[in-house]
Amino acid sequence: MLEYTFEDMRKMNRDKLGNMVPLELFRTIRLIGLNQGLPMGGKGTTLTIGRKIGENLPVHTVEELLQMFEELRIGIPRVIERNEHKIIVAVDDCFCKGLPTLEDEKMVCDLEGAILEGALTKMMKRRVTVKETKCNVSGHEHCEYEIKL
Ligand SMILES: [Zn+2]
Repeated sequence: MLEYTFEDMRKMNRDKLGNMVPLELFRTIRLIGLNQGLPMGGKGTTLTIGRKIGENLPVHTVEELLQMFEELRIGIPRVIERNEHKIIVAVDDCFCKGLPTLEDEKMVCDLEGAILEGALTKMMKRRVTVKETKCNVSGHEHCEYEIKL
C-alpha cells in the first residue's frame, strides 16, 4: 500500500477503546498543536491540510458534504442562505462550542472551512472559496461560513 484513503480510516479493530477519541484530544491537536504550535497560527498549513482532507471525503453533493460534516461530529451545519453565487452555512454544536472566548474577534474553525473548500472545489471542478465569518470563540451565537461558488 502506498497511501491511505479515507475508506482506510474507517477500518478499525480496537477491542477496548473502540472508534472514538475524546473531543479534548481533537481540540488539542487543532488549537494547541496547529493553531498555537505553528508560526502565524498555522494559517497556510491548516488550509493545506483542510483542503486535502476535503478532497478525500467520499461526497458528491453539497448535501452529502454537510451530512458528512455532522457524521464526523465537527458540527451540525444548516444552510441559511443559498443562491448561484454563494452559500451561507451556520454550524451549531461546533467542536469549539464551550471554549473560553478569545479576544480580537479571533476565529478558530479554519481547518473545518478548508475541509469544505477542498470538497467543494473537487466536486464543482472549479475554485470554490470558504471563509469563516462567525465563530463561537469570538462571542458569536454559532460558527458560520461564507462559501463563494
Ligand atoms: Zn468556530
